[in-house]
Amino acid sequence: MTVGIVGAGQLGRMLALAGYPLGLDFLCLDPARDAPAGQVAPLLHGAFTDRRLLARLARRCEVITFDWENVSVASLASLTRRHRTRICPPVTALATGQDRVAEKRLFERLRIPTTRWCAVDSRTALLRAVASLGVPGVLKTRRLGYDGKGQAVIRTAADAERAWSRLGHVPLLYEEWVRFEHEVSVIGARSIHGELAIYPLCGNVHGDGILRLTCAPFGPPRWQRLAARYLERVLTHFRYSGILTIEFFVRRGQLIANEMAPRVHNSGHWTIEGATTSQFENHLRAILGLPLGATDARGYSVMVNLIGELPARAQLLALEGVHLHVYGKHPRPGRKVGHCTAVEPTAVARNRRARRLLRELAVRVRIP
Ligand code: AMP
Repeated sequence: MTVGIVGAGQLGRMLALAGYPLGLDFLCLDPARDAPAGQVAPLLHGAFTDRRLLARLARRCEVITFDWENVSVASLASLTRRHRTRICPPVTALATGQDRVAEKRLFERLRIPTTRWCAVDSRTALLRAVASLGVPGVLKTRRLGYDGKGQAVIRTAADAERAWSRLGHVPLLYEEWVRFEHEVSVIGARSIHGELAIYPLCGNVHGDGILRLTCAPFGPPRWQRLAARYLERVLTHFRYSGILTIEFFVRRGQLIANEMAPRVHNSGHWTIEGATTSQFENHLRAILGLPLGATDARGYSVMVNLIGELPARAQLLALEGVHLHVYGKHPRPGRKVGHCTAVEPTAVARNRRARRLLRELAVRVRIP
């Protein structure tokens, strides 16, 4: 059975690595010849919109998934029409995940608390939004924003002018700046038969808009219950199949949705060693209609992203219990090139381990 993956980044690579033990085959499509998933699975090399390659993918695969939310919705939708190929997660969820305004509207419709926001499509609209929501706030591109890209914090009138000249050429959204105590994410799977499985909550720390560290399980049972309830609403709304992630700010005990990702997520990498079934395996089980695996934590995990360049392999592996994942990418500042995870029996031991790991990596990040 072959699974098609549109996008062959590190998420596609980890999907393939999780699927091989289940006897699955993979075929990826990516414009980069040396893409991470293409190093472990066959790769069709070309644009995400290349009709000929997409048709080949459709002919050779039982189901097609994607590892990046900015792949072309129109191209995937046309595959369903022309070849009757199953696309999982559904293209409707992908379209929503690509547009911050559509996401906000969905959260509001499903009564999931979110930040106060205004759509911005002109300089006047920006000034009106700043006057209405106040400062500080953040101006974000509606589309193609990731890892903090396409964002500008606004505190003064001069900031607003600067942000407008930098970002004003595309549709935008202005939202209140949330003084959060924590950032958390919830990850869960819904199978094509409607079975649900939700992971323990992840506590995330970002720096410069990029995820640096995740601890899981995280937070009190009330946050877990709330996050699971919100996630279920979105999963049910889309008659979803696969893994879905929602990121929240926690402010005074309230969960405020920031964004959703219709795919496996960086904050779920700890599940490879730290949960009974990894998010990657459960994504595959969900889209193939196989029974979902248990999502319970095997202990207390910490996952640290390796950003920009890789540390010496021997130095990291000398640390007992540290699992290293290298993505096969060229080093570049701000680029995620790998991650490492450690699992401990208690939260105290996990935090001790996290401090040691951060010291070894010379990374300055707080532990949530
Ligand atoms: P995003 O691309 O929307 O996930 O933003 C990346 C990171 O920037 C988030 O994880 C937060 O750390 C920070 N951030 C984004 N929007 C806000 C906001 N409205 N208030 C406070 N922090 C934010």
